[in-house]
Amino acid sequence: MPLAEGIRILLDKVMAVSGNELVPLAKATGRIVAQAIDCPINVPPANNSAMDGYGVRSNDCNAAVTLTCVGEALAGQPYVGAIEAGQCIRIMTGAIIPDGIDAVVMQENVTRDQQQVTLNAGVKSGQNIRLAGEDLTSGQLLFEPGHRIKPADIGLLASLGIATVTVKRKPKVALLSNGDELVEPGQPLASGQIYESNRYALAAMLKRLPLDVDEFGIIPDQPQSIRQAFSTASEYDAVISSGGVSVGDADYIKQILEEMGQIDFWKLAIKPGKPFAYGRLGNAHYFGLPGNPVSAMVTCHQLAVPALRQLTGEHSEPPLTITATTTEAIRKRPGRLDFQRGVAQRSEDGRLLVTTTGRQGSGIMSSLSNANCFLVLEQERGNIEAGEQVEVLLFDQLLS
Ligand code: AMP
Ligand code: MG
Repeated sequence: MPLAEGIRILLDKVMAVSGNELVPLAKATGRIVAQAIDCPINVPPANNSAMDGYGVRSNDCNAAVTLTCVGEALAGQPYVGAIEAGQCIRIMTGAIIPDGIDAVVMQENVTRDQQQVTLNAGVKSGQNIRLAGEDLTSGQLLFEPGHRIKPADIGLLASLGIATVTVKRKPKVALLSNGDELVEPGQPLASGQIYESNRYALAAMLKRLPLDVDEFGIIPDQPQSIRQAFSTASEYDAVISSGGVSVGDADYIKQILEEMGQIDFWKLAIKPGKPFAYGRLGNAHYFGLPGNPVSAMVTCHQLAVPALRQLTGEHSEPPLTITATTTEAIRKRPGRLDFQRGVAQRSEDGRLLVTTTGRQGSGIMSSLSNANCFLVLEQERGNIEAGEQVEVLLFDQLLS
């Protein structure tokens, strides 16, 4: 099954979790808007000056003229009082435009002698004035449900006086690793053992999404231990495991998922990550990632993450790819969509170049660690010559 087909099935099956919560603005970054947010006020709230200079009546200024300055308006300190014909006020950027004034002249364009302000002709009504509501109007839609809140959105909401936001609750995700050979970092390593790394890498990636991740630790290759972990995990919104989904003698994950839940699909035409499995366990969506560390991260990023984003309620767009020239020949056999790891950069003459990070085995974590992008090599494509164009997917905030 091609990757796109697998993603389509996932996105078809995964619905946003129900349940909202109210969070203070300072905790809302990265969260998903649950109810439409309308603009509560006009921005700016009043007509104000866009310049440091002089507020004038444009009718006075049809020819060169000398006006009398009768007061001052500062940001936060409005001018109160009348302004008669032939008068002006000193006004600073952000200060409210008082009644009577309809234009601001830059201070660089006047000469001042005591209270006398002389300026040239050619003042237009409205010049250098920011109008109330010109940025945002009270009542207009700001964010629809499903919008992920970015740092600039936090600034925008704060500028409107909004202190709390109703966001989707964080889906609960169980994260587990499977394998008799795995040992937690920090412990001594006996013969035949390796350090557990998938759970650490996956947790680091998933932390950047609005999820509540519970780490279940290392589950040994024993059906009884897996059953026990699964019965707890079935209460979650999603379960992510790595290892044990291939065809080895100690690969029990698939068998027990079938026994306690169901498998919707298994095996995709991608490299790395072929044995990826998706199914259901109780209420939970089950993402069975392969054990090889690069495969686990690639399949999590390509398959579990879009599904998890949808589970959080986010309306996300498919990622944008770009085209670059490969600096080297790449060996590839037709049949699987290949996610090679590489470094994309601009050449001195401005071309976008990409180079792989060397050996591309599915256990070679440095190939991912040294990379800033994937070279996405089409399923049907064979060997690639240096100088050919390839599709590049720059790492997003989950991988960089
Ligand atoms: P499996 O899918 O269980 O056959 O595992 C494939 C390969 O990935 C084996 O070499 C495992 O030792 C390795 N592996 C499995 N799980 C992990 C893990 N959590 N951390 C690091 N390597 C792992
Ligand atoms: Mg294993």
